[in-house]
Amino acid sequence: MSEGEPSLFERMMSGEIPADFVHHDERTIAVRDINPQAPVHVLVVPRKRYRNAAELAGDDPELLAELFRVAADIAEREGVAESGYRLLFNTNEDAGQTVFHVHLHLLGGRQLGALAQQV
Ligand code: AMP
Repeated sequence: MSEGEPSLFERMMSGEIPADFVHHDERTIAVRDINPQAPVHVLVVPRKRYRNAAELAGDDPELLAELFRVAADIAEREGVAESGYRLLFNTNEDAGQTVFHVHLHLLGGRQLGALAQQV
């Protein structure tokens, strides 16, 4: 994806590709992950595109906080707030980031195990 092309999430927002939206407002959207790693796997995304969490934090920390607030609301609605859930950002290659429009993963609904695999 070059900078000029719409990102995966921009294509979802424009309706160009289908998405299972669980939330949308003026500044954020949330969609179910197409390849869920847990019974609940939702991506919370700012409408404005930033490459990763560091860029978002530097430019708009309030928007970064909003992603966490939206994720907490979705966790309540999905019934995992009490049982537990994990929020994470993948950043760059070693973390396995594949979509360079920042997105917060919300994972829950099962025991999530170790934070990172030993290799
Ligand atoms: P990351 O690897 O952190 O960049 O996360 C990208 C996520 O987007 C992965 O978990 C993918 O499964 C997910 N994904 C890719 N294409 C789609 C799609 N069309 N709809 C929903 N999720 C997607």
